[in-house]
Amino acid sequence: MAEETKSILDLYPDYRVDIGIEVHVQLDTKSKIFCASSNDQTETTNDHICEVCLGYPGTLPVVNKKVIEFAIKAALGTQSKITPRCTFARKHYFYPDLPKNYQTTQDNNPICTEGKVVITKADGTEKTIRLIRIHMEEDAGKNIHSQSGESFVDFNRAGTPLLEVVSYPDIESTEEVRAYLKKLRALVQYLGISTGNMEEGSFRADTNISVRKKNDPNLGTRCELKNINSFKFISDAVEYEIERQIQLLESGQKVIQQTRLWDTKNKETRPMRSKEEAADYRYFQDPDLPIIEISQAWIDQIQQSLPELPDQKLKRLQDQYGIKSYEADILIEDRELAHYFESTAAHTQNAQLINWVLRDVMGYLKEHKQSIAEFKITPEKLAQLMNLLAKGTINNRAAQEIFELVAQDGSEPAEIVKAKGLEQIEDPAALEKIIKEIIDANPDNVAAYKSGKDKLFGFFVGQAMQKTKGKGNPQVINDLLKKYLG
Ligand code: MN
Repeated sequence: MAEETKSILDLYPDYRVDIGIEVHVQLDTKSKIFCASSNDQTETTNDHICEVCLGYPGTLPVVNKKVIEFAIKAALGTQSKITPRCTFARKHYFYPDLPKNYQTTQDNNPICTEGKVVITKADGTEKTIRLIRIHMEEDAGKNIHSQSGESFVDFNRAGTPLLEVVSYPDIESTEEVRAYLKKLRALVQYLGISTGNMEEGSFRADTNISVRKKNDPNLGTRCELKNINSFKFISDAVEYEIERQIQLLESGQKVIQQTRLWDTKNKETRPMRSKEEAADYRYFQDPDLPIIEISQAWIDQIQQSLPELPDQKLKRLQDQYGIKSYEADILIEDRELAHYFESTAAHTQNAQLINWVLRDVMGYLKEHKQSIAEFKITPEKLAQLMNLLAKGTINNRAAQEIFELVAQDGSEPAEIVKAKGLEQIEDPAALEKIIKEIIDANPDNVAAYKSGKDKLFGFFVGQAMQKTKGKGNPQVINDLLKKYLG
């Protein structure tokens, strides 16, 4: 099941890559961060706006307590230090979708520092990605450019609360980029603070990439890949950018620090702008907002309300069901699938269940574009199928056939077994008779097998399966064949 990951780095063994990621997580609050306007992301433009989020002179912001609570949840979920007295700052820049001409964000005293996210790699090993900080800020509006050359601005998103999660450059491959983003996304979803939907822009990653020779102690010059909204594109873009930078260095050129965009059509990164320095933003503490004081009592209260988080679930699934870490890792990414697995496991002891869920259930849902809710094989029915297999009533081939039928019409596995006569033939005497017939009918192949053509064993198994209409017990058939051919 482990994903095969071939990296461009395999071609350049002298190089290593250092990646730091900034993720903007859109918080799922009812109202915006500094006013009472709705935080619903609607289709109609400019219907969730007020004087405050439009930046009218003389208006004053009021902090939404829910945003602080969500930030504390993120802190607890990432084992971050919580700043007891944190402040908001103004970050100045001029752009039509930013009505105040500054973004209210956090600078020197972010709410969280020094957290961590533990990722599971494809080979099952764990790695800790350290977080520099998590800070709260408001989103800007959205510029819309029409075909006819007109430009509009929609302020519905202006003032939407965000958490910006900033990692250290601890990430060293495209595989780790994906694992990090998936883990962080699962975390905000479990915490109930964001939908984590990438395509809708609720979870946006900016990826800072630099490469260097392995023996170089200093980080290379980095480029930032902005706002890529799918896992597929991120993997492609990161791979492309690593290769671009290595080839620049290999040909004696320099990497220029800049922000780049991923062109999904031409599958390449393109320069967007050279990066501003922090000084260009002229940060200063926002005089309109108070210092936010966070008491230990409040933190404790939030801690007690936390649900089971991905890391805890990862360990519990392994302990409780004896599954491997990469299997548990796939389940924690998809809470519905994990719930399905656990509901099924409540009715069967068959240890093969995890394989059926990750291979057959996931495969079927993907192929037929179904959700778990639409899936006709309920946990009870899958458990029934697993129990028929475990008892030896049916063999694996029959189980596959029954799986497809139940998935189509939701019928009972046990009834399909009866109606179609799929019971496994296990009786050694009955199977022995069939094996003897096959051996008598194929003297040439028997001689060839005995003279060393081991591959012919498959031919005999195939014959036996054909004669039993696929219902013979494979283990008994194998044993009998070995006895008569050996
Ligand atoms: Mn930001």
